[in-house]
Amino acid sequence: MLFKDVLVDETLKSQLINLVKENRVSHAQLFLGGAGTHKFALAVAFAQYLCCEHPSDTDSCGECPSCKKFAKLSHPDLHLIFPNCNTQEVKKDSESKLHIRAFTDFVMQNNYHLDYAKWLDILGGANKQLTINIRDCASIINQNSIRSYEGGYKIYILWRVDKLYYDAAPKLLKTLEEPENKTLFILLADSADTILQTILSRTQLVKIPAMRPEIISRELVANYGASQETADDIANIAEGSFIKALELFENNGEVHEMLTIFEFILTSAIANKMGDLGKMQFSELRAKIETLAKTDREKQVMFFTYMTRMFRNLLMLNTNNAAIIKATAEERAFAEFFKKYITLKNITPILDECNKAIFHIIRNGNSTLIFTDFYLKLSAIL
Ligand SMILES: [Zn+2]
Repeated sequence: MLFKDVLVDETLKSQLINLVKENRVSHAQLFLGGAGTHKFALAVAFAQYLCCEHPSDTDSCGECPSCKKFAKLSHPDLHLIFPNCNTQEVKKDSESKLHIRAFTDFVMQNNYHLDYAKWLDILGGANKQLTINIRDCASIINQNSIRSYEGGYKIYILWRVDKLYYDAAPKLLKTLEEPENKTLFILLADSADTILQTILSRTQLVKIPAMRPEIISRELVANYGASQETADDIANIAEGSFIKALELFENNGEVHEMLTIFEFILTSAIANKMGDLGKMQFSELRAKIETLAKTDREKQVMFFTYMTRMFRNLLMLNTNNAAIIKATAEERAFAEFFKKYITLKNITPILDECNKAIFHIIRNGNSTLIFTDFYLKLSAIL
């Protein structure tokens, strides 16, 4: 992985490169940033730069034997550690190195955008508990006492260090404190809340900011075949996460569909309030609610979450905060038209109703009733 292909801000790359140039590389670093940041790619690029035989001022050479091995993630001094469990292939005593082939395939196939849910699927699905376990830690400690194969750095990248099994942590901590010379640990985590305090205190923190919309958009066009318009729309609502952007891209059309239903519900609620909801419209509304109620609960929650975002957008537009709204072009046009109905006065009760609906859906309430009730409450509040 070359720095030029890592989707983080250039200043962050320069900071890391300067650490190498000034010989200030701390032996244990914690890369902290949301799941949808390109932090795994950044960690590998950093490791590659440290091992490159002919690095330039801004990047690895990409040509030397070390870089070539890094490109395949097969450099003998690069050790990848990640949450794992027993599977069909690894029947017992699971540890990262037994899954390394599957993991490197996963990394490559996803262009280094590591989605934990996808990795969980590969290892066997939702009921599995993945951890970085005691055997992983023992391997690190054993490796640590051996010299590097190629005479340079030995580098350990631990993806999702928040999954470090509690009882395995003490072993690792001692190594983090007193590593052998020329050893680098790069620990990756999505949020500081879930990491052991003892790990936080032993590492140098590198914060990875959310991905900027223009970077998301450019990447979707360049490597995923998105049109500029779609890419811009998605980048605006992906909240700085490339994983979320990909999800939206794969479900392209879903946002449009949700907007259509939302528009219908809102129009009907307004008409109902005015007392001119026609019979036709009412039966159409009932049919729409029936259809929604038949989708799975995850989808229903998604729809209410979607409405929550759109109600906020309407309020933002109505209160002249257009600059901060997150919306596709179609949603913006919609919002311009409906903004006058959402005010500082009614936003709180409306969002309360959305939250209540989500609460009941998660607890297996009757979906038709929940949607109908929401519609009537909305109509009364507007
Ligand atoms: Zn090189």
